[in-house]
Amino acid sequence: MRNPEAARSQAAVTPPTAPVVIVGGGFGGLYTALALAERRQHPPILLIEPNDRFLFLPLLYELLSGELRSWEIAPRYDSLLAGKGVAWLQDRVVRIDAQSSQVHTASGRCLPFSRLVLATGAQANDFGIPGVAEYSLGFRTLADVERLQRLTKTLKQRARPLQRLAVVGAGASGVELACKLADQLQGSTIVDLIEQGPGLLPQAKAFNREQAEQALQRRDVRLRTHTRVEAVQPGGLTLLGPAGS
Ligand SMILES: Cc1cc2nc3c(=O)[nH]c(=O)nc-3n(C[C@H](O)[C@H](O)[C@H](O)COP(=O)(O)OP(=O)(O)OC[C@H]3O[C@@H](n4cnc5c(N)ncnc54)[C@H](O)[C@@H]3O)c2cc1C
Repeated sequence: MRNPEAARSQAAVTPPTAPVVIVGGGFGGLYTALALAERRQHPPILLIEPNDRFLFLPLLYELLSGELRSWEIAPRYDSLLAGKGVAWLQDRVVRIDAQSSQVHTASGRCLPFSRLVLATGAQANDFGIPGVAEYSLGFRTLADVERLQRLTKTLKQRARPLQRLAVVGAGASGVELACKLADQLQGSTIVDLIEQGPGLLPQAKAFNREQAEQALQRRDVRLRTHTRVEAVQPGGLTLLGPAGS
């Protein structure tokens, strides 16, 4: 992000050694910082990220299943960046002042930048469906994994007849998560995979779709297609399917 006019007028106030500031230490921000640091004579680089650990999201399923442990998929930023030429500040950017080329952080710091990279990722969206924020669990953070592990443990221990767990969305994440949950629950709970479209993995090749369908069938995951979630309540869902609500 660079505003040429502001940059010219602020050249006097922004020190020449102001770093490239990268906001967000996910895949985008971290790999930008590391790639920049590999260049010869790179400028100072400052990565601002509030969490102390980088999370390798594609392996979150293996953390849920216990195949991997948190230190294996969530290395600390200080060890990842040691000796790499990237400074890390554990903080959250709350305001950007493009005129003065400064970022303001939650802890009250005001930091100059020569260039700014915004890599703050996406936020979960409940698409306005009532009850999603209050009564459903996400799958994005270490805390989400811990909550799901506690839930699967409880469901396995109490094993009431016909208890059910629903995964909503039969894209790659939903299919993989439904399989891992079914493995964890070991038949104690019916796992439903709910999809509003006509089938799972809509963008995948036919072979991959077949493999995914077989993986779900082997675990007795119930795939409900053409079914929309209308609302989420404590302990239940309102669905709109081919036969109505
Ligand atoms: C379970 C799961 C599995 C996935 N598997 C795959 C896969 O196999 N293949 C694939 O291609 N993609 C996969 N994805 C998607 C992939 O992880 C995302 O596309 C990727 O993480 C996006 O990277 P990003 O850097 O843009 O954002 P993010 O990874 O979301 O990182 C954004 C970072 O910015 C930080 N941040 C936010 N706001 C601020 C602020 N104000 N100040 C400072 N820092 C801030 C956040 O703390 C976060 O660390 C998966 C996602 C999930 C959830």
